[in-house]
Amino acid sequence: MKPQVAFFDFACCEGCQLQIANLEEDILGLLALVDVVEFREVLTGKAPEYDIAFIEGSITRKSDEARLIDIRNRSKLLVAYGQCAVTGGINRLKNNAASLDQVKRTVYGDAAGMPHLETAKTKGVGEIVKVDLEIPGCPVDRGEVVRLVKELCLGKVPRIPDYPVCVECKLKENVCLFDEGTICLGPIARAGCGAVCPSNGVPCDACRGTVPNPNKKAMHEVLKKYNYTVKEIIQEMNLFGVAPEVSE
Ligand code: SF4
Ligand code: SF4
Ligand code: SF4
Repeated sequence: MKPQVAFFDFACCEGCQLQIANLEEDILGLLALVDVVEFREVLTGKAPEYDIAFIEGSITRKSDEARLIDIRNRSKLLVAYGQCAVTGGINRLKNNAASLDQVKRTVYGDAAGMPHLETAKTKGVGEIVKVDLEIPGCPVDRGEVVRLVKELCLGKVPRIPDYPVCVECKLKENVCLFDEGTICLGPIARAGCGAVCPSNGVPCDACRGTVPNPNKKAMHEVLKKYNYTVKEIIQEMNLFGVAPEVSE
């Protein structure tokens, strides 16, 4: 019998779900291995229990925590997919604000008093429940999701690249963006996306997080070579919470 899998979303833009919904021909390979029993974007059905629950989005409310714990209790394996689920993603930016109430008023204006809007800090899924696999990215890479799900279903240990984006960028023979006057986090960012941003002239801001034990010394040397300060890079690159990784 094929594993029964379900997809759930919390606070997010649903871009990662769309990556799955738009798998096109790859969906056939995936459906040969799993039965999708719940997926709000594409199905109306529901199921009481799951072999694998995929969670998208960050956790921002008490009611989210209770819902997530309930899903965890009904799932054999739980996968956090997309950076919102893995770390809180872009939503986590609000945790840096001096006042969460002010954040709410800035975003919602006069509607900030709506009862479902809480002033809680944003959390990643792993801060609330046990996570069996994290799939990074904003959004996730479709090909990587298919590979990791296949590995999971076949009982293999799913592997995420632990080398930096610069490796993939160099393999594509791109001109380094530092040489074109732009800061790029490729030296410490986790690869696996095929260096899609620098390959299209856009600097990497480490949406997949950093490699384990990022080489801060090398990053500092690159910054020094191109006349940037660590302070400048922290100001530019805190979108995904990577800035502390490059601080002194
Ligand atoms: S990780 Fe990015 S693409 Fe995915 S849901 Fe969050 S904001 Fe959207
Ligand atoms: S453009 Fe970015 S990812 Fe590519 S080699 Fe330069 S620093 Fe590395
Ligand atoms: S190049 Fe960097 S920012 Fe772009 S997808 Fe890859 S890890 Fe994310």
